[in-house]
Amino acid sequence: MPMKIKAAVFHGPNQPLTIETLELDDPGPGEVLVKIKATGLCHTDLHIIEGHQPQPVPAVLGHESAGVVVAVGPDVSDLREGDHVVPFLLPECGVCPNCQSGKTNICLKIGERTGTDFSRLSRNGQRIHTFVGMGTFADHMVIAADRVAKVSEHASFEGACYASCGGATGIGSVRRHDVDREALVAVFGLGGVGLNVVQGAALAGAQVIIGVDTNDAKEAVARKLGLTHFINPDKVESVAAEIMAITVMGATHSFECIGAPAVMREAIAATNAFYGRCTIIGVAPSGSELTTPVQQLSMGKTVGGLLMGGVKARSGLPSLVSEYAEGRVNFDDLISHRLKLDEINEGFAMMKQGLSTRTVILFD
Ligand code: NAD
Ligand code: ZN
Ligand code: ZN
Repeated sequence: MPMKIKAAVFHGPNQPLTIETLELDDPGPGEVLVKIKATGLCHTDLHIIEGHQPQPVPAVLGHESAGVVVAVGPDVSDLREGDHVVPFLLPECGVCPNCQSGKTNICLKIGERTGTDFSRLSRNGQRIHTFVGMGTFADHMVIAADRVAKVSEHASFEGACYASCGGATGIGSVRRHDVDREALVAVFGLGGVGLNVVQGAALAGAQVIIGVDTNDAKEAVARKLGLTHFINPDKVESVAAEIMAITVMGATHSFECIGAPAVMREAIAATNAFYGRCTIIGVAPSGSELTTPVQQLSMGKTVGGLLMGGVKARSGLPSLVSEYAEGRVNFDDLISHRLKLDEINEGFAMMKQGLSTRTVILFD
């Protein structure tokens, strides 16, 4: 029997999300119904709201969440009613060559069950789209079970939720690229993701962690997590020159966590020419290009991207959530605002102005 749910619906670029009652079908084979308890606002959602990424409408956005399983479809044997879970952007089927490999978190089933054909949402008979088969800006969601991790019941829902994108992406990126005690790290953008790069680098014992952000207010929370130097790009002539002055040969590991090609160029320039690695985490507007002097790459520097910190849905996320539950990872100080679903547009307005670190929507 389809159920009525409450969701924030996206109707087109730069329009406010509207709170509506929708119908949600029962979970089909290989799917689960999750009651969402918390969902975070990630800048990837804002990119879509601002029209920087293609998205069919009307749609329910949102991909960072935690909740409780309330029903499972046929063929689901490893999840049951009452499980505390974290849905993830990527599947982990567990049997394909990529799932068997430690080198990548990109399951070969990526892209399956993400299109409108698989949306279980409708309104008056009209199918409603979702963001890549998720749609966490709603009090319930049906999702493929191979994208759902069972996590510790000792973790708060808001912390477990944040782990599923901001936490995994930030901390996972640091761990994937072997940041160690000799590392000289530069983090561009100290938002929900960048602060977790800082945290991950500090946990790894990096000797220098430089944060770059246009908002001075980000410095205090970043220092609490282990930041050693802060640069406001609006107050210096050249960010790359400042980073060179601190690190002598450039950052051994730099991370762009904004999504601005001009900042990516700066991050590459600030990376050690011989053995540095620049990781592009930020999502740039669809179709944009990155230019950088090729000469900079000829001596050994590497530049690359990373999706969801290289973290695997079901074998990687639960341990991160447990680290949080045990107090070894701090998400609580990074959650600056807790709102209700009806206040979601205010949450995105704050993100746009750089006034929040992570905003989490809490459901009853
Ligand atoms: P956010 O809005 O919380 O943080 C962005 C930060 O960048 C803010 O602190 C802001 O003040 C700062 N900033 C903006 N422009 C700047 C500039 N020109 N110079 C310096 N600082 C600047 O965003 P978020 O949720 O942390 O997401 C960051 C980026 O990461 C987004 O592009 C998002 O789409 C992307 N993302 C990628 C992945 C992935 O898997 N690769 C996962 C999650 C998010
Ligand atoms: Zn995200
Ligand atoms: Zn797989």
